[in-house]
Amino acid sequence: MLKTLKNRFEQGYRTSAYPKKKIELPARYRGLPLVHKDAPGELAVTCAAACPQDAIDAERKLIDMGRCVFCGACERLSEGRFVSFTRNFELSVAEKEHLMTDGTLPPLAEHARQHFKKLFGRSLQLRQVSAAGCNACEADLNVLATPFFDLARFGINFVASPRHADGIVVTGPVSVNMKTALLQTYEAVPSPKVVIAVGSCPLSGGPFRGSPEISPGLDSLLPVDLYIPGCPPHPLTNLHGLLNFFK
Ligand code: SF4
Ligand code: SF4
Repeated sequence: MLKTLKNRFEQGYRTSAYPKKKIELPARYRGLPLVHKDAPGELAVTCAAACPQDAIDAERKLIDMGRCVFCGACERLSEGRFVSFTRNFELSVAEKEHLMTDGTLPPLAEHARQHFKKLFGRSLQLRQVSAAGCNACEADLNVLATPFFDLARFGINFVASPRHADGIVVTGPVSVNMKTALLQTYEAVPSPKVVIAVGSCPLSGGPFRGSPEISPGLDSLLPVDLYIPGCPPHPLTNLHGLLNFFK
């Protein structure tokens, strides 16, 4: 017992002070992409051709974060002259069209936020549905329950039954085989309910985009309230989205 207490004392308080205090992620982390509008047009075209996700609009000089898997190829190829990645992990948006960005993001829709705050202000229970994800998005959601992030201190929990949930968090590209299970889970959640799409898979199909075995995007099946881009999104990106939209 004494050993346990001593150990606890030595460990100290490990929970992150975020969002009260800013967190700096390591230099190698790729967050919000910054598109340099003054870059030569040919460079934009070269980067667009090299992008494995067809995520670059070379003409308008924008990146579709819904498709981007943050591989960094465009940054390497342009040596940071067309695209450079910032360490800003606050990437979530409430409207799908806001995923097209040059590095500026609008604040999360205020009207919707007020609506959800009123509904779920102190308690938000979520059911996670892995709709054929590769398990990386799921792992980075799981990690929110660890002492460092301690999601429960904000009144947000993942629950086992959709009947106990206020909404669903969907990962994966929604394969044909998972579609019915996803829709049944959504139906089982009592209204009012929310739908949160986590990762490029439910946003656009991610690396599986174009496959006949997946849905074209979660929003073609269900009304999505929050889009969290990344492949996978950093746990802080998930946390920021949940707190900013619902709390
Ligand atoms: S980082 Fe995104 S936009 Fe750039 S090449 Fe990779 S997938 Fe395309
Ligand atoms: S978005 Fe990327 S990390 Fe997440 S499930 Fe799809 S492939 Fe895996």
